[in-house]
Amino acid sequence: MTARVLVVDDILANVKLLEARLSAEYFEVLSAFSGQEALDVCERERVDVVLLDVMMPGMDGFEACKRIKENPKTHHIPVIMVTALDQPSDKIQGLESGADDFLTKPVDDIALITRVKNIARLKMLNDEMVLRASTSKRLGMTENDAFAKALSGHSGRVLVVDDHPRSAARLSEALSKVHETVVEQDPQQAMNRLLTEDYDLLVVSLSLNDFDGLRLCSQARSHERSRRLPIVILVEPGDDARLLRGLDLGVNDYVMRPIDRHEMMARVKSQIKRKRHADFLRHSLEESVEASVVDALTGLHNRRYMETHIQTLLSTAKESGRPLSVLLADIDHFKKVNDTYGHDVGDTVLQEFSKRFARNTRGVDLACRLGGEEFMIVMPDTDIALAYQVGERLRACIAADTFTISTEQSIRVTASVGLATLESKDDTAQTLFKKADQALYAAKRRGRNRVAADAA
Ligand SMILES: [Mg+2]
Repeated sequence: MTARVLVVDDILANVKLLEARLSAEYFEVLSAFSGQEALDVCERERVDVVLLDVMMPGMDGFEACKRIKENPKTHHIPVIMVTALDQPSDKIQGLESGADDFLTKPVDDIALITRVKNIARLKMLNDEMVLRASTSKRLGMTENDAFAKALSGHSGRVLVVDDHPRSAARLSEALSKVHETVVEQDPQQAMNRLLTEDYDLLVVSLSLNDFDGLRLCSQARSHERSRRLPIVILVEPGDDARLLRGLDLGVNDYVMRPIDRHEMMARVKSQIKRKRHADFLRHSLEESVEASVVDALTGLHNRRYMETHIQTLLSTAKESGRPLSVLLADIDHFKKVNDTYGHDVGDTVLQEFSKRFARNTRGVDLACRLGGEEFMIVMPDTDIALAYQVGERLRACIAADTFTISTEQSIRVTASVGLATLESKDDTAQTLFKKADQALYAAKRRGRNRVAADAA
C-alpha cells in the first residue's frame, strides 16, 4: 500500500527516525517541524495520514489536530497522535481534539506500521465514499440511510471472545456505551455465532485458557461468511511473536494489555467504519454493475450488454472459423395484450415469456431482452440448422401452454422467430441483426407463430 504520511515533530532526530521506518515500508513521507507547518502542508499537499507529536513548542499537537479537523479543506485527513507519556489524560484530550488513533513514544515498529496501515486504508475507503457521494449528488440521487450509516463508526455489533471474567466485563462495559456487545467465552461457540449472526467486528483475546485465539482468527478468515470481518486481538506485552503471526493471518489491529479503553474505543471505531465503507462500496458497485447490464423486468441481459458482448462472440467465431447464429423473437400481437388487459398483465406475460425463453438457451448462449416485446439470443458454435431447431423448440414452448395472467384467467401467447447466421468475414453485428430482423418480418408475414431463416 502506498500512502503519503506527514510526520510532525519538533525534534529533527524523531522525524528522521519515523521517516526511515516508514520509508522502509514503502510509505511516502513528508515532514513538518511545528504545528503551523503541519497545517500548511495539509492544506497544500495530498496527505493520507498525519503522525502528530503532542509536545511541541508554540502550537502543541492537540491544537494542531483540532485545527486540522476544523478546516473543511483538511478535516478528512486522519491524525495519529504521538504521545510522550502513556497518560490516559493525553488520550482523552487527543480524542477531544479529533485524533483517530494513538502511538506512544518510544514508538514501537509493529505499532507504527499497523496503525499507519489501518488509518491509511480507512482514508482511502473514505475518499472513495466522498467521491461516490458527490457522484450521487450530481446524478440527483439523495444520500440514503445506508450511506449515512456507512459513514459512521457507531452502534456496531461487536463479538468479544475473552474467558477472563474481569477483563471481559470491563471490555463489555466500555464497548456497550457505543456498541452492541456480545461476550463469548467459548471459542467454538464464538465461531458458531460468526457463522449464524451478523457482526461488525471480532475482538479476540490471545490469553484464552487452553485455546489459541489465533486459531479462531484463522478460522474466521477462512469462512466465506466471516472472511471480511475486521478482527482486533488483545495481546500481552512482550508477545510480539504471536502478534506478528496474527497480523500475518490477516488480523486488522491489536490492543496491548493492560487495555487503555480510549485506545480500544478509537480502534474499534476505525475498524467498524472501515468495514461499513467497504461493504457499502462493494454493494453499490454490484448494484450499479448489475443495473447496467440486466433488464429489471425480466432479469435477462439488456440490449447494452448484448451490444458489447456480441462483438466478442463475433470476433471469436470469425477467428476460429466456427459458426454463429442469431435468433430474434417477437411476441405476436403483444400490443393487443396490453390494450386488452393492461400493462401489468403485459409485464406478467413478458416475465413468463422470458422464463421460457431462458429455458431454451444454453450456458454459452447470450440471451437478452432488446426492449419492448423483442428478444434475442446470440448462439456461438451454432449453424443455421441447429439454430432452426432452437427457434422451433422455443416457438413450440411458448405456444404449447397458456400464460396465466390471474388466478382464474389464462391467455394464449405465440411468438415469431427470425434467424440469421454468420456467412462471411464481412458480417457484422449490424448485418446479422438486420438479416434476423428481415427473417422475423417474413415469419410474421407468413402468419406468425412460426420460425423463418430467410427474408423471402
Ligand atoms: Mg516534541
